[in-house]
Amino acid sequence: TVRTRFAPSPTGYLHIGGVRTALFSWLQARKLNGRFVLRIEDTDRERSTQEAVDAILEGLDWLGLDYDEGPYYQTQNSDRYQEVIDQLLAAGQAYRCYCSREELEAMREQAMARGEKPKYDGRCRDREDTPPGVHPVIRFRSPEAGQTVVDDRIQGRVVYDNSELDDLIIARSDNTPTYNLTVVVDDLDMKITDVIRGDDHLNNTPRQMNIMTALGHEPPRYAHVPLILGPDGKRLSKRHGATNVLQYRDAGYLPQALLNYLVRLGWAHGDQEVFALDEMIHKFDISDVNKSAARFDTEKLNWLNQHYLKNTAPAELVRPLEAQLRALGVDPGNGPDLGRLAEVQRERCETLKAMAAASRVFFEEFEDYDAKAVDKHMGADARPVLEYLHGQLAQLSDWRQETLHGVIKASAEALELKMGKVAQPLRVALCGTAVSPSIDATLELLGQNRTLDRITRAIN
Ligand code: GLU
Repeated sequence: TVRTRFAPSPTGYLHIGGVRTALFSWLQARKLNGRFVLRIEDTDRERSTQEAVDAILEGLDWLGLDYDEGPYYQTQNSDRYQEVIDQLLAAGQAYRCYCSREELEAMREQAMARGEKPKYDGRCRDREDTPPGVHPVIRFRSPEAGQTVVDDRIQGRVVYDNSELDDLIIARSDNTPTYNLTVVVDDLDMKITDVIRGDDHLNNTPRQMNIMTALGHEPPRYAHVPLILGPDGKRLSKRHGATNVLQYRDAGYLPQALLNYLVRLGWAHGDQEVFALDEMIHKFDISDVNKSAARFDTEKLNWLNQHYLKNTAPAELVRPLEAQLRALGVDPGNGPDLGRLAEVQRERCETLKAMAAASRVFFEEFEDYDAKAVDKHMGADARPVLEYLHGQLAQLSDWRQETLHGVIKASAEALELKMGKVAQPLRVALCGTAVSPSIDATLELLGQNRTLDRITRAIN
C-alpha cells in the first residue's frame, strides 16, 4: 500500500505552503487507498513549541486532512536514531569528525581561494587517534564516485555527482541526530512509499537516498512541490497577506474553498475550477503537478469561497458565522436565524467575516445615518412614505419575505411611486445606509419590532 506523510517542524504557525504539500500527500494516499501519516519533526528543541504543534493539529483538523497514523513525535524516537547511528559507525559508513570550527573555516577559505565550492574534505574519515577533550560530530561517509539520481515525479530527473555531496553531519557533538538522519530513519521505519514535500528539500534528497542505500534500503519515490509565490513573483510571505492557515479560518474562508484553491495552485485538470472533495481525490495525481512555482491569487480564492458559501447548506454556515459575529463583539443570539441570514447574505459576501460585518444592523442599533444616503433618499418626501409603510407593516401578522414583498409593492402602487422611491428611504431608515440585501429580505431579517422601531426613529 501507498504510504505518504506530512512531516512539519513545529517551529511556527502552519504555513499555507505546508498545507498545500500536506493536501497533496493526503490526496495521494486517499486516491490510492493508502495511509497518510503525520510526523512532527520536533528534534530542534530550541525552536519547537507546543503552541506550534497545537496550531498544526488545529489547522489539519479544520481542513479535514485526517491522518491514519500519528502524530508521531521525533523527540520520542531518540533511541532508534542512536541505534542507526551506531549501526552506521560499526559498519564504517559513518565516522567521528574532530575538526574544530577554525579548521573547518580554514578549509572553506582555501576552497574559495582555489575557486572551488566549499566542501568538507573528509580528513577525519580514516583518522585513528581520538583527540582528548573534543566532542566529535558524526559524519556520513558519502560515496565519492558515481551519481545519485533523483527521479522526481514533479521535477523530473535530477542528477547529482556524488563528488559534490560532502560527508554530511548526522549527529551533532552533543549526540543529537540531525534532520537528514532522522528523516531517513523515519521514512524507512514508517515504510513511506511516497515522499511529497517542498522543493526546498530537493538538495537534501540525494544525501538522504545515499544514507538509505548504506542502510540497505530502497529509497521511496519523491515529489518535490514548488513554492508558492506572491502576486509579485517573490516567495509568498507575510508581506503579501496571510500565510498562516488559521488566519484564513479567522478571515472567514471555508475549508473546502481553501482546499479547492490550493489544489488548483500548480495542478490542473482541464479547465475545471471547482472540485468537490471526492472529485479532487479521484482526479488528482501528484505527477501532474506543475514544476514551476504558482502565484497566489486572493481574488480567485474569494471567488471560490463565495461559490462554496452559495453551495453549502445554510445550516452548516451557522457555526462559523456565529464565531465571526462573536469575533466582532456582536451577540449572535440577539438577531435573526443565522442560517437564514447566511442564505441571504451569501449572495453578496465573499467571506463569512464580510458577512458578519455586513450583518451588524440585524443585531444591534446602528449609530449614525450615512450622510450621503440621507441626502439622496431622505428628503422631505420620504417622511410620508415611511409613515405610510409603518402603518402597513404594523398591521401584519405574517412576517415572511413574500408577504413583505407584497406589502412594499402595494404601498408603492398606493402612493404612486416607483419601487426605488419606497425601498430606498426604507432601507436608510432600517440600516442607516443605502446598501443592504433586498428590501423584503432586510425586513424579514430585522423582524417586525426592530423594523417598526427603526422607522419610528427615522421619522422622529
Ligand atoms: N520537517 C521538514 C520541514 O518542515 C520537512 C521534512 C520532510 O518533509 O522531509 O521543512
